[in-house]
Amino acid sequence: MTYAEMLALARKNLNPQERGEYCSFGFVSAVLEAANGKYYTGVNVDLACGLGYCAERNAAGSMLTDGETVVRRVVCVGQDGAPMPPCGCCREFLALLSPENENTEFLLEEEPLRTETLGRLRLFPWEK
Ligand SMILES: [Zn+2]
Repeated sequence: MTYAEMLALARKNLNPQERGEYCSFGFVSAVLEAANGKYYTGVNVDLACGLGYCAERNAAGSMLTDGETVVRRVVCVGQDGAPMPPCGCCREFLALLSPENENTEFLLEEEPLRTETLGRLRLFPWEK
């Protein structure tokens, strides 16, 4: 899949839902390309008790179910459909799944296309 195709899939999966005052989800959508050649998708979940998770980690959960830990590329979009960088939690999460994820590319901007590696987004990793 090209970045444009990954963006289209991420946008297609946006499905903002407010389920009462305690639960919302689908405001952020992510597509991960894993080293096994598969693509994994996920949306964010936010619960009033403080639990929840980002779209990237939701997608990574399915990847882990397949036994894969290495991510090649990530596209994540917000409610407006624009690419967004990963939050600090997702940077740590993916970095600790595999040292190879230092090379994971994140789409930061669509026009002009701009990407950055996880290694560059985490310049001073605490675990090394
Ligand atoms: Zn995140």
